[in-house]
Amino acid sequence: MPRLSEVIAALDVLWPPERAEEWDAVGTVCGDPGAEVVRVLFAVDPVQAVADEAIELGAQLIVTHHPLYLRGTTTVAAGHFKGRVVHTLIKNDIALHVAHTNADTADPGVSDALAGALDLRVVGPLVPDPTDASGRRGLGRICELDQPETLGAFAERAAKRLPGTAQGIRVAGDPGARVRTVAVSGGSGDSLFDAVRAAGVDVFLTSDLRHHPVSEATQQSPLGLVDAAHWATEWPWCEQAAAQLDEISDRHGWDLRVHVSRTVTDPWTSQHSSPGAPN
Ligand SMILES: [Zn+2]
Repeated sequence: MPRLSEVIAALDVLWPPERAEEWDAVGTVCGDPGAEVVRVLFAVDPVQAVADEAIELGAQLIVTHHPLYLRGTTTVAAGHFKGRVVHTLIKNDIALHVAHTNADTADPGVSDALAGALDLRVVGPLVPDPTDASGRRGLGRICELDQPETLGAFAERAAKRLPGTAQGIRVAGDPGARVRTVAVSGGSGDSLFDAVRAAGVDVFLTSDLRHHPVSEATQQSPLGLVDAAHWATEWPWCEQAAAQLDEISDRHGWDLRVHVSRTVTDPWTSQHSSPGAPN
C-alpha cells in the first residue's frame, strides 16, 4: 500500500508542478504525506459534493483539475464553503491534490482526453510549449476527422460523447459546413482565437465562449464554433488520468482502487429555449 507522498510523486511525474502557469495554484492542498492510500477519486471540481462522494467511496485521496484556492486564502474556517470542504476532508483523512494548467499542457493532457472522447485524431498542440523539443506538449490540440462530416453532425457527436449538462452544445456557423480539421481546448477557450485562426481549422470546440469574441470570429472567417459546458470539456481528463494512475499502480504493485467522479459539478442546472429561437 503506497503512502500519499509516493502517489503524489508519481502524479508529479505525469504533471510536473513547475510546468503550471505562474498565476496557478497546483499541488497538494491538504493531506498527510505518510498516510496510506487505497482509493483515489478523480474529479474536475473540489466542491462539497465531491468531498461527500469521496467519503462514500472510502477514498483517501481526491485529485481535481481545478484549484480549491486559486488566489490563496487566510482562513479555512468551516463557516465559509471552501473551509467547509477543507474541514470535511481533514476530518475524514482525505487528501486533496490539484493538477490544473500543468495537466492542460501535458502529453497526454486535458485536450487529448477531450479529443479522445470524440474519436478525433490528434495532430499536435494548438499552442506548442516552446520548451518541449518533442513538439507534443502545449495548450489545446489540432485534430483531424477520419471522415469529413457536417458541422451539425460534428456538434451531434460532441453532444453524444461528452457528459450531459443543462447547456448541451451551442453552435455558431452553417450546420451544413464541411468539417475535416478541428481545434479543441478543454476549459475556457476565449483566449485562443488567434491560434485557432492561424491553424486554419474548420471548427473550434471549447467552452465559455462569449458574445464579442464569437461574433468577431464568425464575421472574420467561416470558422465553426462548438461550445460545451466547461465541466463537460474537462471531465474526460478524469478518465484519462485515472487510467494513467491505474497503470502506475500496476507497475508498482500498489493495488490502488482508482475512481472517476460521477457527480455533475457543472453549476448550470437547467436551460429553457425561447419560443421562436433558432434550432
Ligand atoms: Zn477548467
